[in-house]
Amino acid sequence: MRIVCPSGLIVEARKMQGAEFETLAAETERKASGNGIAIFLRACWTATEDPGPYPFTGSPDWKRLLQGDVLAALVAHRVAVLGAPYDFATPCEACGTRNDVECMLDELQLKPLPKDSVDRMRAGRPFETTLLDGRKVVFDLGTIVHEELLEKQLKQMKRRPEWEGHKPTFIDALAIRIRSIDDVMNRDGTENVSSQFTKRLEFLRGCDLDFIYDLQEKMTAVDCGIDTAIAFDCISCGWTQKRDFPLGRDFFNPRKKKTPKTTSGETTNEETPSSET
Ligand SMILES: [Zn+2]
Repeated sequence: MRIVCPSGLIVEARKMQGAEFETLAAETERKASGNGIAIFLRACWTATEDPGPYPFTGSPDWKRLLQGDVLAALVAHRVAVLGAPYDFATPCEACGTRNDVECMLDELQLKPLPKDSVDRMRAGRPFETTLLDGRKVVFDLGTIVHEELLEKQLKQMKRRPEWEGHKPTFIDALAIRIRSIDDVMNRDGTENVSSQFTKRLEFLRGCDLDFIYDLQEKMTAVDCGIDTAIAFDCISCGWTQKRDFPLGRDFFNPRKKKTPKTTSGETTNEETPSSET
C-alpha cells in the first residue's frame, strides 16, 4: 500500500502481520507503545517514494518522524486490515451519556507541513518563536523520541521530593520539545539553565496560562498533523461536541458487533445488555 503523510513523506508498505500485532501489544503492555509503533512500522516498510522533509533516502527512522506522519501511517495500516469505518464509545461532555461515535478513517483531513517548515527541516535548522513578552524560544517538532525522553525525565523526577505528586500535562509535552528559552537563568543570574528540562518546566509553570497557550499555538502552527476530532450530537441531550478518536490498544482490534438501531430515533440499547462495560 502507498502511505501519504502530511509532511510530504510517501512510503510503500506491506500489511501488518500477526507478529507485529504481538509486538504492539507487548510494548503497549510495558508502557512503551511508541517503541512498539516504531518497530511495527519499520517491519512493514518496503520502499520510500518521497522522503519529504527528511534527510534519509532508505528506511525511515520512525522514532524521528513527525507525530503527524506516524499517525498517518497508523491510520493507513488500520484501514488496510480493518477498513475505514471506526467506532468508539465516549461519554457526552454535557450529560455523561455513553455515545457510540462513528468516523471514516479515510476521510480525516491532513494538515500539511508548511513550506517554511519543510525548508527548515531539510536544512537541519531548529524552529524559533517568541513568547508574548518577546523572549526567544528554540524548539523542535514532536516525535516518538520526545515522548520517550519525557517518560525518562518523569521517571527521574518521581525520585525527587520537590516533584512529588507532579501530574504531567500538555505543558510537560511542550517543555520536552523546547531546546532553550531566553533569560531563564540560574539563581545568581550568571547562566542560562533552560537546557535542563525541569528548569524549562518550572519556568512554564510560573507563566500565565495565556502565555503557555500562545506558545502552544505557535509551536503547533508550524507542524503538520491529522485532524482527529470527530463531531457528534449526544443521543440523549442532543449537545453537539467534538472528540479526538482514541488510538489505544483497541485501534487494531476488529469492530464489535453492534445492536441495530431503530429508525424512529429511539435506540434499542436499553433492551440489550452491553458486553463492554
Ligand atoms: Zn448528552
